[in-house]
Amino acid sequence: MTSRSLLRLALAGAVASGAVLLATLPADASKAPKTVPVRLLALNDFHGNLEPPTGSSGRMVDENGNTVDAGGAAYVATHMKALADKNTIAVAQGDLIGATPLISAAYHDEPSVEFLGKLGLKVAAVGNHEFDEGYAELRRIMKGGCHPVDGCSPAGTWKGAQFDYVGANVLFKNRDEKTDALAALGQQPQVKQLLSDWGVPALPPVSIKWMNGVPIGFIGLVTQTTPSIVTSEGIKDLKFVDEVKAANVASKLLKLVGVKAQVVLVHEGDQVTAGQSPDACSAIPGAGNRIATQVDAEVDLILSGHSHQAYMCKVKDPAGNDRVYSQGGSFGRVITQVDLNVNVKSRDIDRASVVADNHVVTRTVAADPEISAFVQTWKDRVAPVANKAVGTISADITNVAAPSGESALGNFIADSQLAATKTGGNAQIALMNPGGVRASLSYATSPVNEGDGVVTYGEAFTVQPFNNLMQAVTLTGAQLKTVLEQQFTGGPNNQAFTKILQPSANFTYTYNRTAAWGSKVSDMKIDGVAVTDTQSIRVAANNFLVGGGDAFLAFRDGTDLWSGPLDIDAFVEHLGKNNPIAPPATNRITAVG
Ligand SMILES: [Zn+2]
Repeated sequence: MTSRSLLRLALAGAVASGAVLLATLPADASKAPKTVPVRLLALNDFHGNLEPPTGSSGRMVDENGNTVDAGGAAYVATHMKALADKNTIAVAQGDLIGATPLISAAYHDEPSVEFLGKLGLKVAAVGNHEFDEGYAELRRIMKGGCHPVDGCSPAGTWKGAQFDYVGANVLFKNRDEKTDALAALGQQPQVKQLLSDWGVPALPPVSIKWMNGVPIGFIGLVTQTTPSIVTSEGIKDLKFVDEVKAANVASKLLKLVGVKAQVVLVHEGDQVTAGQSPDACSAIPGAGNRIATQVDAEVDLILSGHSHQAYMCKVKDPAGNDRVYSQGGSFGRVITQVDLNVNVKSRDIDRASVVADNHVVTRTVAADPEISAFVQTWKDRVAPVANKAVGTISADITNVAAPSGESALGNFIADSQLAATKTGGNAQIALMNPGGVRASLSYATSPVNEGDGVVTYGEAFTVQPFNNLMQAVTLTGAQLKTVLEQQFTGGPNNQAFTKILQPSANFTYTYNRTAAWGSKVSDMKIDGVAVTDTQSIRVAANNFLVGGGDAFLAFRDGTDLWSGPLDIDAFVEHLGKNNPIAPPATNRITAVG
């Protein structure tokens, strides 16, 4: 779709809404209801969890402080049906797809987007992960058509998302396209002016949905940090601008066409204190709070995402009025319900009427039969993909830590990551977080030719399920040492919280358990050569670590960020070489003390 037709699409609803509004106002307003009810049901960061997520990803602290099993498409559907009434609009705050389990990832997430359509979703903000496979692929997911490389899924030609994706802060870099887009707007001088001061949207910035005779405007926003967390090639024509500025332009746009009931769906959020009720406001003010407090006072609600936390806050908008700011965890474990009244005359949300509540998607209810069958169909379809052989091993390669903290599989993955980042990223060493090695590779349990050491794609995907991007940054020797000191996150004498990064084979060092915190690490060598404090080193790691994940904050001091392939692709590529693969030794780190 051209930028011209995109804009037309975004504005057609808005322009139509103004006209219809005038026509539907009753002759005798005194007999009409003053307000009408609207219910929003919101999801965020679903990440393709069609099957119930397992481990800690499938548990949630509920309103009573109990940790319960939560999530799974069929349970989301049951809860949604129970919560939805005739006034309901279902919405979402991004990362619905990307970083998904194989059942969804193997088909470019078409199964997840189809499920969300069946769920009745109407509008979703794009998240950073919606750009994982690039802008062109996101447009295909929105519009339909078969994948340009992998072709159609077993379900046939993709029909496109049954909901609107919106992203007001995603613009084309090339301002020349503006001329084209603006020419299409014809008789809209105010809108024309607004956009000529702004830029050319790469996605519809807003979506307007009617409920009970009033229009509700939804403004989509995605974290402006997106370019640093997705592959640059796929978004090279796009820029991700300040969320607050974009929201305020979109809010003006909505107001110009008479839409004053405004909701921001933002894929950015804050962290919380662990173990809190999903209805607590324990969010630590950060990037999400900035948006929630600074966006124009015309916006009535801020539904957020991205940080995978659940919170229910009230913040002050710039006019000093209360505004709900919420998030619903991740992986379909929480549905956020917002009930509100819209004044028919002013067409604005009565802020005092807003009642919001997070509901945990428990599994103690009956699974929705239609969605259960739908998920089973995709489970059956993905089985051959999961069973494809990608390499062979000569013995079990486990994620069980040796006394040094290394595991054979962790070391193998670090080697695979270095191999995948040498060219392009100029990486010299690789470091892998131990928590990201999710399972072991077993010699015996392959479903293909039991007991011959075959590793299947499904087994590899279970080990590396996050679809993290491989990245490389430049650290000084001193910064690299700080990263390694940060492995001892529990502080002095607290070995329980130690997280030893898995190093590539060419990187060795010593740590002393009993040395003072901050001086535990010594004798760092790359290819046998001692590392100096001032030398520059290209270090490869997944985007989780490079972003400071697991409290490895020193990674954030890295410069010259490069993004490359997915970690699973690096892993599979390496599994395909040097077969059969023997478990690497765990002798890269020397632990003393
Ligand atoms: Zn995100």
